[in-house]
Amino acid sequence: MKKTNFVFVSLFLPLVISIVACRPLIKKGELLQVGRENFNRYWILDKAVQSGDTLILQAEEAKLISRFVAKNFILSADIFTTAGAEGALYFHTDNKGSDPSEGYSVIINNADYRQGNSQKTGSLAFTRNNFIHTVNDGEWFNLRVEVIANHISVSVNNKIISEYIQPASPKRIQGLENMILSEGKIILQKSNDSGQIRIDGIQIEARDPDELALSDASFVDDSTGEILTLLNQQGFPVVDYHGHLKGGLTVEEICRHGRVFGYNYGIAPNCGLNFPVTNDSALLAYYDGIKDEPVFKAMQCEGREWITLFSSENISKYDYIFTDAMTWTDHKGRRMRLWIPEETFVEDEQKFMDMLVDKIEAILSQEPVDIYVNPTFLPDIIAGNYDSLWTPERMDRVIKVLVENDVALEINSRFRIPSIAFVKRAKEAGVKFTLGTNNGGKDDLGRLEYSLSVIQEAGITAEDIFIPRPAGDKKVIKNGLPAKITG
Ligand SMILES: [Zn+2]
Repeated sequence: MKKTNFVFVSLFLPLVISIVACRPLIKKGELLQVGRENFNRYWILDKAVQSGDTLILQAEEAKLISRFVAKNFILSADIFTTAGAEGALYFHTDNKGSDPSEGYSVIINNADYRQGNSQKTGSLAFTRNNFIHTVNDGEWFNLRVEVIANHISVSVNNKIISEYIQPASPKRIQGLENMILSEGKIILQKSNDSGQIRIDGIQIEARDPDELALSDASFVDDSTGEILTLLNQQGFPVVDYHGHLKGGLTVEEICRHGRVFGYNYGIAPNCGLNFPVTNDSALLAYYDGIKDEPVFKAMQCEGREWITLFSSENISKYDYIFTDAMTWTDHKGRRMRLWIPEETFVEDEQKFMDMLVDKIEAILSQEPVDIYVNPTFLPDIIAGNYDSLWTPERMDRVIKVLVENDVALEINSRFRIPSIAFVKRAKEAGVKFTLGTNNGGKDDLGRLEYSLSVIQEAGITAEDIFIPRPAGDKKVIKNGLPAKITG
């Protein structure tokens, strides 16, 4: 993002006069292009420092408070963070600014994963949370916030990160009752004492205050919708970590789906023998195709041959990698794909289960994956006996290998696995979890129904959810790839 200078404002003198009154509302069509020369007319600086063309928030709770009141508006600002700096843009609030329970706030935080607030830049906090890192510290980015009637949209570098249509009677948890639209001040505030937030050119366009409310035709406020609303207000990382761009589904479409229902997506290509991505150049090309998109960049490692096809360095560009135990070679040398009946051989249920658990142990202890997906999947021919075949002893062997190798367990909505009993046992042992769908195309994205019902029933909290490792801490770099095929 190119740094832009403050815009000179002498053209807007009539406006300047109109907004210095007490709590003036900026009027429809008025455009505030706020620059160095006129900054103090529009903003109160509290512990904030002006340096040339740039405003600097460094001290904890340093802030800019608007002298005007805005209702419907479009705000655009060029912002730069140095390492560790966190803050937020508040709107429809009073001048306290630090009270996130009044009006809404948009998070500014470009720290890597597992560092600082788990919500990253562009998150509409506690409403439509964003956990995806889209901007690095040390680079300028543009933040755009649109508030029109009951519709809020937040974009970073021209990509919509979060979006929300406030319903007529919004449900709010205790403490967030005032997180509603009204009109109020705009406040940009630092929230910690690390680093700096630098702000260049802010432009605010007042829109028609009588704009009509949008009806929300997409969000479904059933039991799943209620859980999604509740989890967002609790700051729970609701992420479908297992999405695929298949069947013509575009990244824009899958992101829109997530924004409407209130969760983030991780997108993975299928990488392995006889899959679309079979070598380093294809792996890099896929990454480059999604690197600027507001999704987690994931790699699905297929079959057992994947370890021979890609370099650790290229794998480590992805935010996380995952695999399942649905493809392996049995003791008679038959390469089985458990979802294909013609390729699956179950001659003795108990022996098959023991072999499956052996394979899961070998895969998860040797392949440097972050998540075990489609977990505990059984072929159709024995799937009806899931609860009796997944004995406590077998569950515990899988749980042990997950814990020992720091592998998260996916709660999969497509196959509705693992069972609630398995998840409760895994939680007890300290396993981390992900929610995942493994969609096959456009029409089966769902809304994480099974995953959400299981986390409710098993009492899984935000702390139990997997967050990707930061750069430099990837398992594939630390552990390397196994020398031999694992199964
Ligand atoms: Zn998949």
